[in-house]
Amino acid sequence: MPDMDAAVLRSTDPIAVEQVELTDPGQGEVLIKIEACGVCHSDLHWINNFRNDTLPAGIAKPSAAILGHEVAGIVEEIGPNVSAVAPGDHVIVGFRPNCGGNCHFCIRGTPWLCERPDNPDRAYTGGSPRLSQDGVPIMQGVGVGGFSEYTVMPERAAIKIRNDAPLETVCLIGCGVTTGIGAAINTAKIEAGSDVAVIGIGGVGLNVVQGARLAGARKIIAVDMMDNKLDMAADFGATHFVNASEGDPVEKVRDLANGYLDYAFEAIGLGATCRQAFDMVRDGGTAVVVGVVGDDITVPGRAFLREKKLIGSFYGSNSLHTDIPKLVDLYMDGRIKVDELISKRRPLSEINEAFEDMLAGEVARSVLHPSGL
Ligand SMILES: [Zn+2]
Ligand SMILES: [Zn+2]
Repeated sequence: MPDMDAAVLRSTDPIAVEQVELTDPGQGEVLIKIEACGVCHSDLHWINNFRNDTLPAGIAKPSAAILGHEVAGIVEEIGPNVSAVAPGDHVIVGFRPNCGGNCHFCIRGTPWLCERPDNPDRAYTGGSPRLSQDGVPIMQGVGVGGFSEYTVMPERAAIKIRNDAPLETVCLIGCGVTTGIGAAINTAKIEAGSDVAVIGIGGVGLNVVQGARLAGARKIIAVDMMDNKLDMAADFGATHFVNASEGDPVEKVRDLANGYLDYAFEAIGLGATCRQAFDMVRDGGTAVVVGVVGDDITVPGRAFLREKKLIGSFYGSNSLHTDIPKLVDLYMDGRIKVDELISKRRPLSEINEAFEDMLAGEVARSVLHPSGL
């Protein structure tokens, strides 16, 4: 594998496009040419953790990392003993490939909780690195290293999709779409006719909204502090709107649902908004935490006597190999929106601008094109 361009994160400098080395695909691995990679909030969390030395325990801080995990591309080469995909196949990357049946969670049918994922961050978990520069290992941040021209991933992470789906758009199914729609349908299992609120209308929140619509929810109440995001929520199926900067959103949502809100989703990642979600739902109702939260969630214990539930949702509780092709079909049939989630396309060299857009709250999603626009 020749050297390739990648956007390399270091401790202080802005992210810069540099030449890095990628290994050939090994046993059970595939080389994927990346057509497009969405810029996700998890990348930003990861950058902050990297720069503030707050990576999870057990991960030695690398000198450099390549982020990006919302990837679609084409299989270019396969290593020995790969059978699920072949060169030329179009794939979406699942950033947390499950072991496929060798752990407690995969055996019981909950592969998104797999405790033995073939972790691509293996440079930092004992394996030999796939990415390096002048012999110094580089980490595949969030497990993929998608802000680059190519990635090498385990076969189980390369989810084959139909060849007529536009890769530059369906890349978002690799994270944001699956996380949001899956939270509504797989995690919460919203029943038709339910009343639902969604707090935080970003890329994931919009997908919770359209997941609630697919599930046949009656009222879908979008909550955000920005009117332009509430307008977007309308296009994705929201029926009612609360601007949280204009008074107490809990009271407003409860009023809109006549006091009987069935589900509330938190898609920001803040303790305060998790509390709002919990307070909004009726007795017996469910608040679902979709955002990446810290340890600062507090809810009143007496509410549990009324069977209120506070539950987590990870990666849309998805089974990658069945759910990703299904979402691609729903998109191709016009039943879910994905194009509308993309507000800007940029070359890899504009990665810092893409994160600036995200911080300014200007976009639902930027998509980077490592091989050019
Ligand atoms: Zn993501
Ligand atoms: Zn497993």
